[in-house]
Amino acid sequence: MRIILKFGGASIKDDKAIKNVGHILHKYKSRPIIIVFSAIAKVTNMLEEIVGLYVNSLKEDMFLKLQKLKDFHFNLVKKLFHKDHEIHNIINNLFVEIEWVLEEEYNGDYDYIYDQIVSVGELLSSNIMSAYCNDKGINNNLIDARDLIKTNADYRFAKVNWEETISSINNIIKSRKTYITQGFIGGTTENCTTTLGREGSDFTAAILAYGLDAKELIVWKDVPGIMNADPNLFNDAEKILSIPFHEAIELAFYGAKVIHPNTIQPLQTKNIPLRVKSFINPDLKGTTIIKGSKIKPLLPFYIVKENQILISISDPLLSFIVEEHLSNIFFIFSKHNIRINMMQHSAVSFSVCLDHDKYKIPKVLDDLQSNFNVVFNEGLTLYTIRHYNQHSIDKILKGKELLLEQKTRNTIHLVLK
Ligand code: ASP
Ligand code: MG
Repeated sequence: MRIILKFGGASIKDDKAIKNVGHILHKYKSRPIIIVFSAIAKVTNMLEEIVGLYVNSLKEDMFLKLQKLKDFHFNLVKKLFHKDHEIHNIINNLFVEIEWVLEEEYNGDYDYIYDQIVSVGELLSSNIMSAYCNDKGINNNLIDARDLIKTNADYRFAKVNWEETISSINNIIKSRKTYITQGFIGGTTENCTTTLGREGSDFTAAILAYGLDAKELIVWKDVPGIMNADPNLFNDAEKILSIPFHEAIELAFYGAKVIHPNTIQPLQTKNIPLRVKSFINPDLKGTTIIKGSKIKPLLPFYIVKENQILISISDPLLSFIVEEHLSNIFFIFSKHNIRINMMQHSAVSFSVCLDHDKYKIPKVLDDLQSNFNVVFNEGLTLYTIRHYNQHSIDKILKGKELLLEQKTRNTIHLVLK
């Protein structure tokens, strides 16, 4: 049975990092593996900026930025390959493809242009990695993910056509060879390039695992595994060894940057274990997400959302807030595509905690204020603790002002100033 390995941008950020990935892959090369690569760290952001400059006709800055991106890739391959290696031409040709798009007049279709340009990040990284691995004795075939992952034409957020995708995957990946492909990108039936939404490479790996009934999916990260809190915010964050799928989905729902629920669902359906391992310490055990496992160790999980706004909405005549009000309020949120992080209903007011998006929130407040009395508090933090105990609550509350609290059996939300 096959193993799917996925490496994100940080794991291949420079020549040293790429050599490290080569060492990791050596340990797997005797098994049938499929390796999925994201674009190199920050490359997707740079390509996004290039698209922004293109649609705003800022040609000079656009070409400067493109040159920076080219220099970065050419310097990298110079360090990794002999000067006569064919990879230099391959990389050059990929940049020519971008230039062809950028030299055309902008046709007004931002999403389409975005996918044509941003997808090149993954084509660059996968070509480099495939060539590097072949040079180092990890013989592999590079497959174009646009032939595997078949999607509709919703550019930037393409939806997977599962039936076609599963049949392409099984038509193309037949032998026990090692294959390398791109995360994040797909293709329509008319062979146009699409992307699956930012951070979509894990999802690609999960689709391949699903389509091939893989033995497991291993996602390599710069952390030792899934932690019970963001180690940048909590210096006592600890690694979780195992966790069931449904718990991982809950955590992702509340905003933990673990693994996107999209990635978990296909794996859960076929009961394929997901392992999160550190590419910095590949011999460490990491975290296993698997059906029926207990959370081990069972620690409180802290999820922190900063830059929140708490909005309290009441009727101008101070009558009770009833279903009719709620229906109007939800209509406004839905119209502005707002996700509610937490809500609470009392007799005369309805409160919601939202991400303070600087574009959307002023419009939402305008709409609410034309129908209701509205007061709000900005600059707040929403803490969610799964499997809380009194100690974990006290730790969070210390030195802060509590504005709102909501508790269920397993989860507590605290809005704090
Ligand atoms: N390169 C894409 C991004 O940065 C996809 C991914 O990394 O998963 O969003
Ligand atoms: Mg990434």
